[in-house]
Amino acid sequence: MQGAYHKHSLMIESLGAEAIEVRTVEDIEKISGLIIPGGESTVMSKLLTRNGLIEPLRRRALSGMPVFGTCAGMIILAKEVDDFNLPLPGLMDISVHRNAYGRQLESFEAAFTVKGIGEEPVTGIFIRAPKITRCGAGVDILAEYEDVPILVRENHFLASSFHPELTGDPRIHALFLSMIK
Ligand code: GLN
Repeated sequence: MQGAYHKHSLMIESLGAEAIEVRTVEDIEKISGLIIPGGESTVMSKLLTRNGLIEPLRRRALSGMPVFGTCAGMIILAKEVDDFNLPLPGLMDISVHRNAYGRQLESFEAAFTVKGIGEEPVTGIFIRAPKITRCGAGVDILAEYEDVPILVRENHFLASSFHPELTGDPRIHALFLSMIK
């Protein structure tokens, strides 16, 4: 309902799966996996609250639906967010600090290897990105940049500090689709 969702849809469809945009409780009931895109987490939280989506999202996510949060979407998934006083579903056992990369540099690209998808580096685009400051015991770190986790998985939840949809490399989306199947 807000942010950079269109390129995610194109990526998912290029991999042969069907993508729909999720804005209502009815939409949440139809899907088998959810990507919460980058954008502005405060606006997303307000829209989720206004549309009555926090509880339905939490219920489906806790009953096993895979969810991938990218950038602002990662903030929406996190159980703990610094200086954030709006409602969140509180799903993933990570702590994040908003805009923590943004003060030095508004936006940058970085290349890194991702556990489980081969040696070829992935390029991530960081746009006023949140930084992961804590990972709970059940969280698997799939990629790091400058010794900080940037792609993490906890069971059926996946989260990235960067935007994986902007480079044309489908491997992170393929990883997420493999979590749905
Ligand atoms: N800074 C944004 C936030 O705090 C996230 C930026 C992004 O998603 N690219 O919500």
